[in-house]
Amino acid sequence: KESTTKENNVAKIKVVVRKRPLNKKELSRKEDDIVTVSDNSYLSVHEPKLKVDLTAYVEKHEFCFDAVLNEHVTNDEVYRETVEPIIPIIFQRTKATCFAYGQTGSGKTYTMQPLPLRAAQDLVRLLHQPVYRSQRFKLWLSYFEIYGGKLYDLLSDRKKLCMREDGRQQVCIVGLQEFEVSDVQIVKEFIERGNAARSTGSTGANEESSRSHAILQLVVKKHNEVKESRRNNDGNESKNGKVVGKISFIDLAGSERGADTTDNDRQTRIEGAEINKSLLALKECIRALDNDQIHIPFRGSKLTEVLRDSFVGNSRTVMISCISPNAGSCEHTLNTLRYADRVK
Ligand code: ADP
Ligand code: MG
Repeated sequence: KESTTKENNVAKIKVVVRKRPLNKKELSRKEDDIVTVSDNSYLSVHEPKLKVDLTAYVEKHEFCFDAVLNEHVTNDEVYRETVEPIIPIIFQRTKATCFAYGQTGSGKTYTMQPLPLRAAQDLVRLLHQPVYRSQRFKLWLSYFEIYGGKLYDLLSDRKKLCMREDGRQQVCIVGLQEFEVSDVQIVKEFIERGNAARSTGSTGANEESSRSHAILQLVVKKHNEVKESRRNNDGNESKNGKVVGKISFIDLAGSERGADTTDNDRQTRIEGAEINKSLLALKECIRALDNDQIHIPFRGSKLTEVLRDSFVGNSRTVMISCISPNAGSCEHTLNTLRYADRVK
């Protein structure tokens, strides 16, 4: 697919599928691995089916993506395939977004967790290069969550946030804390702090986080000398540098949660409807981007509204679709692959 630009060879939209290995539970149940990764861009799903007379047969579904990563691929290789190529162009006014999509348990968090850390490492290294150092670039980090259509700051006691748009299509999340990060150890601490604050709901069960989208942003800003010398009342450095580029890492809600719209629990239903809406809106926005449409339907959900400025201008999108290999997940796996197929 023709989706690379002239300035560089980084595709505007890249769709990658990652298959995780069978886990202990699936192995102990002797579940079949029904996903075959045939090469770097093809995979097939062998769906177990029954005929009307109850004889078993297998229906084979084949898919092709920009990249398909099998169960032996490490997180490091995932980084190199997805995020690494984008890093240098963040300094050239690029707004990039990297999503992990898939059912709960398919490996989204496992895949996304290390990416911002690696990205920060590379961004910090670039910041220290003479060419950029002289331009006074700095790296800022923020981490928030969208839960039930509302925004919460994961780095300031889950403070509720709201969104505002200025006249220049810039999205501003009012009150969102941004922290300057000049070394990777600090980034690691912020990520851990944010993760600990992720939604656990009233049950305290970790599974509540599968109903939220977690968004970690690394923003490169240019600080001019005049503003720089002026300090805030609290002695902190001014944060009002000019945004040069940014990259957002999004650990999406479990894709199966969008189907929770008939659940008995009212709250679950509301959340399910919101998740459904946001995943549909996301797909529409990425497709519009890919078709170079002028009108991007970002108003469809909170998620896409928040990402509005990453869908206009010089943007890059990487979708990592995570899939479980076990027979029991077949339906969800096919849904995930079909979603990814439509985004492509
Ligand atoms: P999700 O965030 O999509 O709900 P997780 O990332 O939490 O899923 O993954 C579910 C489980 O599978 C975790 O225990 C995780 O460590 C494991 N896992 C996921 N992907 C892989 C992988 N590629 N290799 C090894 N273990 C994995
Ligand atoms: Mg998760």
